Amino acid sequence: MQRGSFQWMKSLNKSIILNKIRIDGPISRAQIAKETELTPPTVGTMVKELLAQGLIKESQLGASQGGRKPTMLVLHVQGFHIIGVDVGPSQIRFIISDLAGEIADELLQEIDPSIENEAFLKMLKQGIQLLMNQHPSLQFIGIGVAMHGVVDAEQGISIFAPNLDLRDIPIKETLEQSFAMNVKVENDAKALALGESWFQVGTAEKSMIAINIGQGIGAGMVIDGKLYHGEHGIAGEIGHMMIDLRGKKCSCGNHGCLQTIASGPAIADRAQELIDAGNSSILAQQHMPLTAEMVHQAAVAGDELARAILHEAGTYLGIALANLIHTFNPGFVIIGGGVAKAGSYILEPIMEAMKSRVIYDRAQDTVVQLSKLSDYGSSLGAVALVLSELFQPET
Ligand SMILES: [Zn+2]
Repeated sequence: MQRGSFQWMKSLNKSIILNKIRIDGPISRAQIAKETELTPPTVGTMVKELLAQGLIKESQLGASQGGRKPTMLVLHVQGFHIIGVDVGPSQIRFIISDLAGEIADELLQEIDPSIENEAFLKMLKQGIQLLMNQHPSLQFIGIGVAMHGVVDAEQGISIFAPNLDLRDIPIKETLEQSFAMNVKVENDAKALALGESWFQVGTAEKSMIAINIGQGIGAGMVIDGKLYHGEHGIAGEIGHMMIDLRGKKCSCGNHGCLQTIASGPAIADRAQELIDAGNSSILAQQHMPLTAEMVHQAAVAGDELARAILHEAGTYLGIALANLIHTFNPGFVIIGGGVAKAGSYILEPIMEAMKSRVIYDRAQDTVVQLSKLSDYGSSLGAVALVLSELFQPET
């Protein structure tokens, strides 16, 4: 298998046909020719190659247009598998996914907080190898890695992973050498956005934004099915959107960044502050350091202080969202990450704050949803990095 690209299996026309079958299958050869404006002989040749490669398969017979019933074509979703890796601040999730995002197996490993580059790369390689060894009959075509922090997606390098304090990790190069297959590396919020657009929203949506709210806050923007990186790769660093001039100091050095107010740790800190100031709450009985999850549980149990804290965080997130809508005007917004688990306690104030601030009535109808991919958002996003290259004709 040729390293670093899918050229061994695709050409421009073949990608167009493959994508058509993925989106519209079951579909006949005649329909493909009609809708892609490729000639029937071209479609015939390409379909034959795709069948031989195992990327598509023939399905049931379609409705006759007054002659022999046409054979329908569908994506062979089980024909190939992809490894998706989500590197979070404290653990790595490895998954095996088919071409439709069905997870066949997974592995979760804790990261030693004092880990260094060499050991980290070894951990990645071993986790991938372990999963592959457990499924010797599967054919793998690529590895996607969603990495927290700043990533050079083109070179496949983790530039800076703040929670692990690691820098300049050559992930793509190392994994391509070890596994001789296509490897894509991307920031986790951006991968999440692509995964949501690929597996949830559907690529028909022209523009969408996915906001990942956890230890930090990041966003990924998908425009016409493609991730937007910006000139220096920092597009979507909305956790550092400055929202309070007199706010707390952020890890980036600025004051009043969104993530000093609405990230998981910020929510926990706020609860602790208000309890220390003498406010009553069931959280005051906690002996462990508070977490955002505890605040959510307290809110569910009816605790007024916990509800007020989530409402405040949600309001700031809604203001940030209104800012994003005014800048970017997406058709769809997905909210994922640990804080999204607070469900309506966070979504309602977000919607309220957003709707009351956007300047154009129709923008108030921007669809905002909580992620349904839950804990698998970033790892499936990593899978989508590989899929989008396999299926998209332009790459
Ligand atoms: Zn900041």
